[in-house]
Amino acid sequence: MKITTKIIIALIAGAIVGIVLNVTAPDVFKVLDTWLFNPLGQIFLSLIKMLVVPIVLFSIILGFNGLGDPKKLGRIGIRTILYFLVTTSIAIVIAITLALIFKPGEVGEFDTSNAQFSAEEAPPVSETLLNIIPSNPFAAMTSGDMLQIIVFAGFIGFALSMLGDKTKGIVNLVQQGNDIMMYLVGIVMKFAPYGTFGLLASAIGSQGFSAIKAMGLYFALVLAALIIHLFITYGGTVYFLGGRRNPFKFFKDFTPAMSVAFSTSSSSAVLPISMEIAQDNLKVPKHISSFVQPLGSTINMDGTAIMQGVATIFIAQVYGVDLSLGQLVTVVLIAVLASIGTAGVPGVGLIMLAMVLQSVNLPVEGIALILGIDRLLDMARTAVNITGDAACAVYNTAAEEKRENKVAR
Ligand code: ASP
Repeated sequence: MKITTKIIIALIAGAIVGIVLNVTAPDVFKVLDTWLFNPLGQIFLSLIKMLVVPIVLFSIILGFNGLGDPKKLGRIGIRTILYFLVTTSIAIVIAITLALIFKPGEVGEFDTSNAQFSAEEAPPVSETLLNIIPSNPFAAMTSGDMLQIIVFAGFIGFALSMLGDKTKGIVNLVQQGNDIMMYLVGIVMKFAPYGTFGLLASAIGSQGFSAIKAMGLYFALVLAALIIHLFITYGGTVYFLGGRRNPFKFFKDFTPAMSVAFSTSSSSAVLPISMEIAQDNLKVPKHISSFVQPLGSTINMDGTAIMQGVATIFIAQVYGVDLSLGQLVTVVLIAVLASIGTAGVPGVGLIMLAMVLQSVNLPVEGIALILGIDRLLDMARTAVNITGDAACAVYNTAAEEKRENKVAR
């Protein structure tokens, strides 16, 4: 059986076991969760997380070294950043439009009297961007600060390509280190079906489902916006910008990575797997994958932006606030920034939502209303977040190929 099939069966089985136990035997769930589901999930999560920092370090060094030509790097860099900004804006506009049409905050009763949520101080985006040059690269690696690791690795890769033959030994060493990591990703993937089963059973089983009923329309709208964005924006990207690739094949080939993102809710944890799948299944060249995907997994979060768009309108409606057109534009701009500043770990998108709400003077306590069902939406939006990075990698692959063909002619 193929790994994709196995993972999908595991996801469905995990969800069913989680729901059934949650509804029929919560006590049995607790015991099974402690001794089986949670350990299975955590072992898998730690196994992939273990590979993230070395993979980002090695593959970016190689990527920058392999690019050699600074012009090519500039081209891919600009294309990537522009693509991230434009698609994230499209994502929020889809989200806001759906929420304005279907008015999730006006259907049903929402008790705001004891809603409490204190915005944990999320770092301002300006700080995230200013901090990208690491004053201590080893500290960046121990704390897993992705942007800083990317910058450091970029410098090393650049130096290696300038020094050429002199540092050939190091290039070989990094190349072999990268091979080791990719080999290990392959091994960890064999455990993925068990891990995703455990993660899903644990996450779904511990949910209270009454929240979904009350929040049904909000939930459905976020999901609908995610699906529209996935198929139209990314499907359109791989077809029109990705050299007429078949969107369905793209989604099918990328399914293992999306499933793991869904079960882990962390773009950053799933990175080793999504890079391997992009290189093997989507045939994205290593130097493109290793630049676009680590960067995307930290700054490109369209799924998160979608949740923030729907949530902002929802909270405005619950509190009876009418947002002007100018305020809606502010929401789009700030949500783009918030999604850039969101770290690729579970639940951070919700904390960054505070920033969006504050920018248009909406009460941050409103977040308490959506807290209960955010765990499930986090899974879905993380899968969308990393698919955007893969679509961008496919786009860059086609654009570079086209250029090379032109030059050759
Ligand atoms: N969990 C998301 C991710 O890792 C971030 C978020 O929206 O909370 O991509």
